Amino acid sequence: MDTIPFNKPYMTGRELWYIAQAHTNGHLAGDGMFTKKCHAWLEARTGAHKALLTHSCTASLDMAAMLADIQPGDEVIMPSYTFVSTANAFVLRGGVPVFVDIRPDTLNIDETGIEAAITPRTKAIVPVHYAGVACEMDAIMDIAQRHKLLVIEDAAQAVMSTYKGKSLGAVGHLGAYSFHETKNIISGEGGALLVNDDRFAERAEIIREKGTNRSQFFRGQIDKYTWVDIGSSYLPGEVIAAFLWAQMEEAQNITQKRLDIWRRYHEALAPLEVAGKLRRPIIPEGCRHNAHMYYILLESLEKRTRVIAQLKEQGVNAVFHYVPLHSSPAGKKYGRSSGELRHTDDLADRLLRLPLWVGIDEAQQKVIAQLQSAL
Ligand SMILES: *Cc1c(COP(=O)(O)O)cnc(C)c1O
Repeated sequence: MDTIPFNKPYMTGRELWYIAQAHTNGHLAGDGMFTKKCHAWLEARTGAHKALLTHSCTASLDMAAMLADIQPGDEVIMPSYTFVSTANAFVLRGGVPVFVDIRPDTLNIDETGIEAAITPRTKAIVPVHYAGVACEMDAIMDIAQRHKLLVIEDAAQAVMSTYKGKSLGAVGHLGAYSFHETKNIISGEGGALLVNDDRFAERAEIIREKGTNRSQFFRGQIDKYTWVDIGSSYLPGEVIAAFLWAQMEEAQNITQKRLDIWRRYHEALAPLEVAGKLRRPIIPEGCRHNAHMYYILLESLEKRTRVIAQLKEQGVNAVFHYVPLHSSPAGKKYGRSSGELRHTDDLADRLLRLPLWVGIDEAQQKVIAQLQSAL
């Protein structure tokens, strides 16, 4: 029996061609021709003041925590229903993640719970755009402005998604993208930091270049380069950037194909929702998503466990994720919750993600049929 994987990285066919060009160019360290192409594409596409490729979204969030100047004891508001890197980046600087519940419709941070979590130590809000669907950014930016907080978007899943016409990752002061092979646009491991507030532009370059002013030196703005700040090595080499460039050229196409697959799930599962057997994703008005994920919500943990096992028997790999951070060992040690996290606990137990990758088309019919019979 052929098994249908949960994810299958899509290659455009031009990756090796561009990698060969990088090889011929003989520039293999970071910030060569392909990195520059990727930066220009990201800036044009998102409207970000500056885009910088990194090793990963995790690295981008680490940089954001340094740029936000997080000091020991500073608090950072975020959802508990997210990947560990959202919190780790701040904990590494001595910060304290403060977890707020999610909205039952989008599973994004509940913006109405944010103000109650603010204390004199609060420095930043980190909205996570779950499944590439936007958080309520107008409300979040308004709260941030009134309380003088930074907004750092964890837009790992949200490349090519928009909120009221604005690219996710380019709404807050800083934004972080992931190009991990499980995301939509990929380079194996990879990411980008979007700097939307130009106050942070120069320091972002310095932090990314081991705390040196190397970028300014290469632009001829200074006559020697030296150690000026904290930092690390966050830039990817040209081979990775060359691979990523092939993906960026196809980004529109990849997104369209994923949206078609997403819509087929959405239409095929509508009757099951009417019959009360599952709940489908909800996309609020003003949000254009990128079909990063198709998930369903089942009635209970027991039901989900049973459905996963039944699908597995039929060769369909459907998965769940995120032990909410507030119930994880490190989350308990380093973070705290603000208020009850009722929806987080409830939805994390009932969510099931279906296989979604470019090329699934025929196999998708089988996933749908197996799901119909398992429910
Ligand atoms: C994938 C993901 C990350 C981490 O991305 P990497 O590029 O693997 O570091 C962070 N946050 C969220 C919400 C993610 O989905």
